[in-house]
Amino acid sequence: MRSEFELIRRHFVHPAPGTRLSVGDDCALMTPSPGQELAVSTDVLVAGRHFFDNTDPYRLGRKSAAVNLSDIAAMGARPRWATLGITLSPAQDEPWVEAFARGFHDELQVHDTDWVGGDTTSGPVAMIAVTILGEVPPGQALLRSGARAGDDIWVSGTPGDAALGLRFLKESLPLAEEDRNHCLARLETPTPRVALGLGLRGIAHAAIDVSDGLLADLGHILEASGVGASLELARMPRSAAMLRQQALPDWPLLLLSGGDDYELCFTAAPEAAPRVQRAAAAAAVPVTRIGRVTDKGGRILYDGDGRPMDMAWQGFDHFRNA
Ligand code: ADP
Ligand code: MG
Repeated sequence: MRSEFELIRRHFVHPAPGTRLSVGDDCALMTPSPGQELAVSTDVLVAGRHFFDNTDPYRLGRKSAAVNLSDIAAMGARPRWATLGITLSPAQDEPWVEAFARGFHDELQVHDTDWVGGDTTSGPVAMIAVTILGEVPPGQALLRSGARAGDDIWVSGTPGDAALGLRFLKESLPLAEEDRNHCLARLETPTPRVALGLGLRGIAHAAIDVSDGLLADLGHILEASGVGASLELARMPRSAAMLRQQALPDWPLLLLSGGDDYELCFTAAPEAAPRVQRAAAAAAVPVTRIGRVTDKGGRILYDGDGRPMDMAWQGFDHFRNA
């Protein structure tokens, strides 16, 4: 019988240089930087729903940190501290816990984020609850509500690749080995765009991270900002893997509604385009202008021939799609 305290001691205790008191007491103690606002975000991942029990635990550990860091990135905040609440089912043996913890810690390390505490229980299904705290100067956070008519709409990276990887896993979509590796890496080890988010402070008017599909998440910006959008399918960035799926009848759906991309979608004034490009270059992340914010509430997506396309601006909803 494994002991909770042994597991914690062996796998969940790490140096926390930016923290006054880390794992081991009833609470962790942190000293926020003077005058900064705290940005706090929590995500819950459930076995069978967000990941499979046979998912590589190291990659799952990385992803559990990454999806949360992605929310911090979308606010233009700097991540500082993380906690992990974890429920282990009998499928998670100690080697699983070791690899998961290593992945979780490695991903946090990339972003100088200290793992300062959590809670560990056993239960019928595995569950992972991550909270990350970040800092941002007052008034500089990138909100969903700041988009203005006339803004350009941008997206980072190449959306839809994770959805291609998922389709390979669930429906054996044939993918060349190179494309398979790329898409599975995008699905299993997404890269939170923290540096890009920081670089967009003072430039982007609104931002969100793309977790439920580009159209759905952009829709949240439009709704919060009370504006509409006009998008062009032909402008959408597509990876080599996505371009090789042209024969797939629903490739636009994978591209625009696939989810699990963890890219940033944001808006900025047209005259800020050179500054957006400089921020993207500094963060080493490609960004693409995909459309324009309009003052009417309408949402229009044009196909390659300039005809409006009929696509639902919604993504995965746990209470609708479950
Ligand atoms: P308490 O019963 O006071 O809540 P616990 O026994 O749950 O304390 O936890 C003891 C210490 O171990 C705490 O500092 C807690 O933050 C830490 N801890 C427990 N689980 C985890 C975890 N999954 N990751 C990091 N720290 C953890
Ligand atoms: Mg406890």
